Amino acid sequence: MADIIRLLSDTVANQIAAGEVIQRPASAVKELMENAVDAGARRIHLVLKDAGKTLIQIVDDGCGMSETDARLCFERHATSKLRAIDDLFALRTMGFRGEALASVASVAQVELRTRPHGEEVGFRVLVEGGQHRSQDQIATSEGTSISVRNLFYNVPARRNFLKSDPVEFRHVQEEFIRVALAHPEIHFEFHHNDNQVFDLRPGNLRQRIAGVFGKLYNERLVPVEEETSIVRVEGYVGKPEFAKKSRGEQYFYVNGRFIKDPYLHHAVNAAFDSLLPGDAYPSYWLRLQVDPASIDVNIHPTKTEIKFSYDKDIYAILRSAVKRAIGRFSVAPSLDFEQEPSFEVPLAKLDQIPRQPEIRINPNYNPFRTGEEPKRFEVGSVRSTPDRAETRQWLHMHREETTIRQSESLIIPSAETSEQRLLRIFEDLDDFRFVHVGQGIASASHPEGLVLIHLAGARERVLYEDNLRYLSSKPAVSQQQLFPVQVQFNPNDYLVVCELLPELQKLGFDLAEFGGNTLVVQGRPAELDAGDESSVLHELVERFKQQTRDSATLPVHERLARSFARTQVQRQRSPFASREIRQLAIDLLHCEEPFAGLSGEVLLRSFDSTQLQNLIQPNRSTQHA
Ligand code: ADP
Ligand code: MG
Repeated sequence: MADIIRLLSDTVANQIAAGEVIQRPASAVKELMENAVDAGARRIHLVLKDAGKTLIQIVDDGCGMSETDARLCFERHATSKLRAIDDLFALRTMGFRGEALASVASVAQVELRTRPHGEEVGFRVLVEGGQHRSQDQIATSEGTSISVRNLFYNVPARRNFLKSDPVEFRHVQEEFIRVALAHPEIHFEFHHNDNQVFDLRPGNLRQRIAGVFGKLYNERLVPVEEETSIVRVEGYVGKPEFAKKSRGEQYFYVNGRFIKDPYLHHAVNAAFDSLLPGDAYPSYWLRLQVDPASIDVNIHPTKTEIKFSYDKDIYAILRSAVKRAIGRFSVAPSLDFEQEPSFEVPLAKLDQIPRQPEIRINPNYNPFRTGEEPKRFEVGSVRSTPDRAETRQWLHMHREETTIRQSESLIIPSAETSEQRLLRIFEDLDDFRFVHVGQGIASASHPEGLVLIHLAGARERVLYEDNLRYLSSKPAVSQQQLFPVQVQFNPNDYLVVCELLPELQKLGFDLAEFGGNTLVVQGRPAELDAGDESSVLHELVERFKQQTRDSATLPVHERLARSFARTQVQRQRSPFASREIRQLAIDLLHCEEPFAGLSGEVLLRSFDSTQLQNLIQPNRSTQHA
């Protein structure tokens, strides 16, 4: 038989290795930035075109490379950072496998310009698809500049596998942030398609966090510090009241290297303990220093996981350090994500003898009717205060519909349903006097009994249906700002909000991009108070992200309409006047679904005199027996 085994060429071997190290523009950015940090740079500039698909350029003012090194660095296993296997265990730099540049160069067109400190001339090396193209002397500034063009141009399968620009950009941005947070002493700049994304001046960690995530973060941080013989912990955790509903602002560094570690994450979570609601994630930026010999960084090709020798001790130390920090700053747990008054009728339940459960039957139940309810009211008209005739006409429609449904059913109803009764009662809405009875409930008495309305839930339902209408047919009116305000976001939220710009416009927000993760509010929804723009937008984005996490399959309009309605409801804290409640009841009755809140809660309820009597003398019948 003929020999069939052949050695792979270096280029092919590098391309295979590249698959492990370089999956997308973000991985190249990470490797190149880490090299710049290792080179002792004080200033690192990242320039991207088309999320890195067309160009990734990193310019640093680090030590530069000699002529030989400039050529050698593209060879596989070429590294200045590792000489023997023992070095792996005493590693203090970022890179160590000597694979990154070889991998990148095998799948892109790379230009390296470098000049070592103190040298007169620099060198340029061109490598394309792993093939050395040219090398010459040039005039260039001290340090190194590497341009990576057309990543994966020669591996179409990989290139096609890349996601859309916004997705790839998000990945790059996250890698950039990870490196920038690890080195607040270095000046980092980031440009994408000629827009400045970041300009992070040297400073301390707190300043760096504020630089990346927004100035507001300055007041949200609690410092953590702990020094023991096996680990030194320092950094910040976010105050519990600013905990996010989505994962993301969680950064661990071990000896300057970003890592992901579910075990240590658990330690921080445990320290927050009961201070966080079950669905919130703590924010943290924590740096751990350990003896390099006590960790193994080599277990993961992209090096975001490491193995600790003393993981149990580190867990305990980390947990107590965070716990103490939170305690020391005695941050009050004022978690009010969902401050929603529950539907509770404030009746004294004490001294009440438990009543025998009664079986209720729905006389209208028809097993042959499908669950699909006919559409009640055409959403599409702009809501305004309807006059009495209009209300009546509408209520009439409602009733007609119900009657038709009843006659269709096989069972002849013997009594009206509570919904029907409510509609009938509300026909004389003008005569109602609503009173806010506390707990977010208003009541109104009428000749037949009592009606209760869940105020926040009703408002939310009304706003939600308004928002849906603005988004789908009739955009809301925007009130122009006398003084446009700037609102800064953290980078991820900024991407979220930018993708929603057209929709936000329809809700009445006139927004323009300003650069530096900042938007300018030129107009706001008419109901919104001036001065609230920033907090409303931040809260809206937070809720939208949560909504997306909880129910990603809902259409964007639906998610946004819900998030905005909830945000709007949360801001209206003023007590309700009787007139306003009446208007709310009218608006609610004009909703497509007036009886159920967005989370399924009951919005309207009526009690007839018999039921009321039962409430007051609950055991009349039992006592008689
Ligand atoms: P590693 O970082 O694991 O050593 P790389 O392939 O990333 O492997 O880089 C190979 C070598 O090229 C590095 O060890 C370093 O000597 C040199 N090098 C890479 N980037 C730079 C840079 N920006 N400035 C100076 N030297 C660099
Ligand atoms: Mg490297």
